[in-house]
Amino acid sequence: MLHIVACIKQVPDTKVIKMNPKTNTMDRASAPAILNPYDAHAVEEAVRLKNKYGGTVSVVTMGPPPAVKAIRKCIEIGADEGYMISDRAFAGADTLATSYALTKAINKISEIKPVDLIICGKMTIDGDTGQVGPGIARRLDIPPLTSVNKVVEMQKEDSYLVVHRKLEDGYEIVQTTLPCLLSVEKEINEVPYSSFPNMLKAARYQPVIWSVNDLEDIDRKQLGLKGSPTIVAKVWGPPKPEGGKILEGNPDEQVQQLLSVVLDKKELFAEMRGSK
Ligand SMILES: Cc1cc2nc3c(=O)[nH]c(=O)nc-3n(C[C@H](O)[C@H](O)[C@H](O)COP(=O)(O)OP(=O)(O)OC[C@H]3O[C@@H](n4cnc5c(N)ncnc54)[C@H](O)[C@@H]3O)c2cc1C
Repeated sequence: MLHIVACIKQVPDTKVIKMNPKTNTMDRASAPAILNPYDAHAVEEAVRLKNKYGGTVSVVTMGPPPAVKAIRKCIEIGADEGYMISDRAFAGADTLATSYALTKAINKISEIKPVDLIICGKMTIDGDTGQVGPGIARRLDIPPLTSVNKVVEMQKEDSYLVVHRKLEDGYEIVQTTLPCLLSVEKEINEVPYSSFPNMLKAARYQPVIWSVNDLEDIDRKQLGLKGSPTIVAKVWGPPKPEGGKILEGNPDEQVQQLLSVVLDKKELFAEMRGSK
């Protein structure tokens, strides 16, 4: 039977988050924490594959204790088990340290039940790097397939998987061996409303929580801030968009005003056409 692990992260809802104008960093307390939207699609795809081929779906996250809520959301979507690694030793991790810690967690999950497929979201909406999935694959020495927008076929017995990888002007069909890791696009599926039984199960669900001491063969120097060579030199926000202009007067006057705005922008439009 298949065992699919989806990597999921709890993130602040960046649609409503406020930036700290002094430090130009995210004020995480200003926004509710949600399941990273790309990861909801990763879990949904894992559940669809389980329903088609049989097996189990586990989810794993590295995060602070409130991230249990994100795991419960995945149980609502249809995941069977949730694992969380949570410890101060993981705090301040960049993508290198995050992929290291998650790899150790996945190794431990594999001891409970060997893992055939790992599915990640394309990226998170707060970190936005898209590096963690390929980082895990590199550390496990398994093939990483990024930008996946369709899983065509999967065969555990013959150890193969066929997917579509999104390209700028279409897609390519790729076949690989199992185990492997996929990073999935949002368009791979639609996440439906959760069923009532899944919601009830999720409300009571307690994930397995491991601290750093529970992970075997771990090099603490590779964890958290200590294991994070990334230095954020500068962070700044995009320029504020100029406000729109409300046209006034009767309809004829408004058309005149609109025309003059369009004529003002004529050069800009011509430049844009020329650059195509
Ligand atoms: C110096 C430094 C310090 C930082 N300190 C912190 C900090 O203290 N707290 C903090 O929240 N962030 C911190 N970050 C941000 C941190 O780098 C990223 O949040 C984290 O490494 C994941 O990278 P990403 O968000 O770009 O994920 P991506 O690579 O964009 O994620 C791709 C996919 O990988 C999986 N994934 C990513 N992260 C996780 C996770 N934690 N658990 C399970 N699956 C995951 C998901 O499937 C996701 O869709 C820090 C960054 C730097 C550079």
